[in-house]
Amino acid sequence: MLDADFFRRWMTATAVSVEHEAERLTALDSPIGDADHGSNLQRGFRAVATVLEKDEPGTPGAVLTLAGRQLISTVGGASGPLYGTLLRRTGKALGDAAEVDEQEFAQALRTGVDAVMQLGGAAPGDKTMIDALLPAVDALGQSFAAARSAAEEGAQATTPLQARKGRASYLGERSIGHQDPGATSSALLIAALAETAGE
Ligand code: ADP
Ligand code: MG
Ligand code: MG
Repeated sequence: MLDADFFRRWMTATAVSVEHEAERLTALDSPIGDADHGSNLQRGFRAVATVLEKDEPGTPGAVLTLAGRQLISTVGGASGPLYGTLLRRTGKALGDAAEVDEQEFAQALRTGVDAVMQLGGAAPGDKTMIDALLPAVDALGQSFAAARSAAEEGAQATTPLQARKGRASYLGERSIGHQDPGATSSALLIAALAETAGE
């Protein structure tokens, strides 16, 4: 079973990973964006780590909704409201249970990813974070490790795609040949999840 502490550790592990990878995320956002994805997420997940230390929410749902709200209020770029919605809606779907099992979490995360698709209007293949998140959710029924591999493969598979959503879409065909920064950070988020689960 997964408790509030598990979800707190997931968010903290994500914050650590974002610190390590911020430069790479910003570099990926340079040719097909405005070179701020790493710093956007750094600001956001630092704030998430700080608020989770201070408030100590007691349920999985409360941890994720608080983290999501924090991302929405601290990240100015497109990724803030999108990741914020992912975590907030996943948290909401978990309700106020003190613990959730892996299947319940997988289902809740699917609700969160659906909400991101609704908010941003992106479909699979549009070269966005969805291309990592959706395969991860599909594989999560199997294991956390399978979700991590699926997210990483999904992120890498964005390279040959032409962007149809977000800033990169302004480049048209020139967006081809670059890995999407948001799909890359989504793979980090899911890798942090697998790491937290000890997989
Ligand atoms: P901004 O583009 O505002 O500078 P970021 O650089 O932080 O924001 O985030 C860019 C990432 O956000 C993209 O690489 C993409 O994965 C994701 N993204 C942008 N627009 C959308 C959308 N409509 N739906 C899903 N993801 C999106
Ligand atoms: Mg950007
Ligand atoms: Mg920006």
